[in-house]
Amino acid sequence: MRPEKINSIYSLITNLPGIGPKIESLFNRMGIYRNIHFLWHIPYNVIKRQKHTNIHEAKINSLVTLRIKIIAHKPSRFKRQPYKINCLCGDTPIDIIYFYARHPVIKSSLPIGKEKYISGKLEYFRNSFQITHPSHIVEIENLNELKDIEPIYGLTAGLSQRIVIKHIQKILKSLPNFKEWIDKELINKYSFNNWNESIKSIHNPKNIENFSNLNIFRRRLAFDELFAHQLAISIIRNSNQKRKGLSFTKKSKLIDEFIKDLPFKLTKSQISVWEEIQDDLSSKNQMVRLLQGDVGSGKTIVALLAILQAIETGYQAAIMVPTSILANQHYQNILTLLESFSIKTIILTGKDKGKIRIEKNLQILKGEAQIIIGTHALIQDDVSFKSIGLIVIDEQHRFGVFQRMAFTNKGIKPSILVMSATPIPRTLSLAAYGDMDESRITEKPLGRLPIKTTSLNLSKEKILIERLKEKLKSNHKAYWICPLVEESEELDLKAATIRHKHLDKIFKNKVLLIHGRLKEKDKEEIMERFQKEDYKILVSTTVIEVGIDIKDAITIIIEHAERFGLAQLHQLRGRVGRNDLQSSCVLLHKDNLGENAKKRIDKMKKTNDGFEIAEEDLIIRGAGEVLGRKQSGLPSFKVADLTYDSDLLEDARNSVLKIVENNPRLENENGENLKNLLYLFERDIAIKTLIAG
Ligand code: ADP
Ligand code: MG
Repeated sequence: MRPEKINSIYSLITNLPGIGPKIESLFNRMGIYRNIHFLWHIPYNVIKRQKHTNIHEAKINSLVTLRIKIIAHKPSRFKRQPYKINCLCGDTPIDIIYFYARHPVIKSSLPIGKEKYISGKLEYFRNSFQITHPSHIVEIENLNELKDIEPIYGLTAGLSQRIVIKHIQKILKSLPNFKEWIDKELINKYSFNNWNESIKSIHNPKNIENFSNLNIFRRRLAFDELFAHQLAISIIRNSNQKRKGLSFTKKSKLIDEFIKDLPFKLTKSQISVWEEIQDDLSSKNQMVRLLQGDVGSGKTIVALLAILQAIETGYQAAIMVPTSILANQHYQNILTLLESFSIKTIILTGKDKGKIRIEKNLQILKGEAQIIIGTHALIQDDVSFKSIGLIVIDEQHRFGVFQRMAFTNKGIKPSILVMSATPIPRTLSLAAYGDMDESRITEKPLGRLPIKTTSLNLSKEKILIERLKEKLKSNHKAYWICPLVEESEELDLKAATIRHKHLDKIFKNKVLLIHGRLKEKDKEEIMERFQKEDYKILVSTTVIEVGIDIKDAITIIIEHAERFGLAQLHQLRGRVGRNDLQSSCVLLHKDNLGENAKKRIDKMKKTNDGFEIAEEDLIIRGAGEVLGRKQSGLPSFKVADLTYDSDLLEDARNSVLKIVENNPRLENENGENLKNLLYLFERDIAIKTLIAG
């Protein structure tokens, strides 16, 4: 059971006063569902807010706090006209401006004749001072509510800094006290403060200068996070190893036959990886293994061999993928590959509802379905397997490590094979996955030509289009990837829409558009039409990044390639080059490339090797970036940043090793403290694992 202390910080944010359904959904969008998520919403910057009594001393366009007296209200008369409130600061007139204001609210918060402190950006417009949408309005006696130094939080449209600060501060006030879980030695080594002090300080910065990555409070919390993460992985791992896993028969007629029937020979690398996996599968321990290999290196075949081995031993096998497009692709692919075998393969996605779903669930429960391919639907509560022996998880980066382990917690211990097409340097995979075993496919199938990669200045777009016209006269197709606009899906979409219109005019009705805002069903339909009908170009935002496989597509154009990270460029490029035709990739870029952008583009032109690119990516971007960004495909940390904190990693690991040795079941008081740590980072699945034995 969750300790009482933890309950309060696990409480849903809807229990906080002032959070109704509308605000709730905005916070949810930022990943804030429970009080604890507020605490981990760490400010990304701090600002200084200068208090002034004389407005003429204040800097224009800086953040200021002023004492003002409200003189008159000038409400807007039509929608786009601003609402003005005339005020005085000392003897100097200043206006407060609101756009799209709610009149009664403003009237009551700024009553005529009253004095208040307001805070916001001071502007000078048409010969007079003004503050637009002040961030704070406080009573004279509450001046101390306005801090000189204030944290800045990431927001989503519709939320203000103030409301975020308000809730975080409230939660901080009633924080339970936690006993230390870090060894004294380490506390001294780094001069860490305790957790309570650290979390409070990070949300209440005292000065601007100290708010850096070396900030000691942040470092303490980063250590905690790495510690919790590694501890959780190690607990789950240990329990997996302790419990005997399934052991599959090694000799398999099915597999021999399957390999003989393949229209190609397995590569050396596929064979050696398969031997590793086969050994693991036939051993007594549960397999938990990461299979890394570049796009197109033939991971699916290897996974299929493992699946056949499970089936031959009498178990079911499942493949879990992040989208139903991918599920479908695997399904079709596997049906073809297994045509001459009588193995019942089904697909289960969120689209299966009602009667169909019940029927499929029944087939799974009875064991009639031997291979089950699906999305998240596979880990829903209504799905129970008769005898699941192997789970293959494709494109792991859309799933969290812990979600993956959900399978392990349904009572049985199936073998787990995670396939990743984002090659990850070993140092990073250690940090992210702990000691998961790893196999690497390092070569591409014979005869596969490296993708020819060129770069081209955006100003030469016309030449490119002429070349494209020639090329697409045959039955070949092309992808056109549109620029990534930082943090804004909407802008991504706009750019893609414009590009689609433009190309559609040139390639009359032969161009399709796909983007992330579309429903899954519509995306699938578009992909299918692009594949089967006479379309030539698919304009896309980065949604096609994951696993799409269309053999006729042999050209990919990436617009504003300078805005993509190396790993992502490599992923995108991997959409072509899936047969023995010469594929090409054109990196369209702007003028005046920055130094790193230039390095990235050069690297892409030089090599097709994903592992090499991953290492380079690490050097150019630093670990923090590689691990932290959505696009990198690795689980990201809330506080820790391996660019700055990799030194903590080692100590966190050593602490975990000590615990595994001395107190693996987290008993007595020290164990309770460690459990608190796991709860604070929502790694409580590890605690459940301990309880389950
Ligand atoms: P990945 O999942 O690693 O991106 P796939 O398993 O989808 O790659 O394989 C890509 C393509 O290469 C598939 O069409 C597959 O049939 C083919 N393929 C796999 N292994 C070989 C091989 N040894 N020789 C030739 N083609 C292969
Ligand atoms: Mg694949």
